[in-house]
Amino acid sequence: MTTRAVALPRAVVHALRTAILGADDGESRLRDAGFEAGRALYDDFAAWMAARAGVADPAIASLGAFGEALGAYASAHGWGTLALEPGNGADTDGLPTLRAADWFEVESAADAPPPPFPACLFTTGLLAGFLGRLAGQPLAVLEIACASCGDAACRFVIGSEAALGKLYATKYGS
Ligand SMILES: [Zn+2]
Repeated sequence: MTTRAVALPRAVVHALRTAILGADDGESRLRDAGFEAGRALYDDFAAWMAARAGVADPAIASLGAFGEALGAYASAHGWGTLALEPGNGADTDGLPTLRAADWFEVESAADAPPPPFPACLFTTGLLAGFLGRLAGQPLAVLEIACASCGDAACRFVIGSEAALGKLYATKYGS
């Protein structure tokens, strides 16, 4: 499949975010837009990984090779630094986590007051769509730390809907 990609300044992403968040149901619309983007991006990533690493299907790569390739893809496309962390953190119920630094969706405190909760809704949807295609089954994503809130980096936990529902209830109350 041929993918035509377009690079945009981060300010464009922020303008789109602001416009979507201003609508009714803005938060779920932004997450849904990310989900569709992630499902589409998976094809581009698969082609990129095949050309770069000779892996025909990312789903059969080792987790380490996949994490390394995803980090390189994110960096090459100006998204930021993305690293797969093994799921051994006590704060993630043992679920795998993606750590995103210098991330494209993060709002600077100079532009907007820090939100009380992690705010990278587009990325949360994007990772769910992208990783769901990789896994061949629905996956949920929960952001548990966010640079927009003043954390050192954004962290996204990956798991089943049920596992993340449990983690969410523990962290934020039901
Ligand atoms: Zn964030």
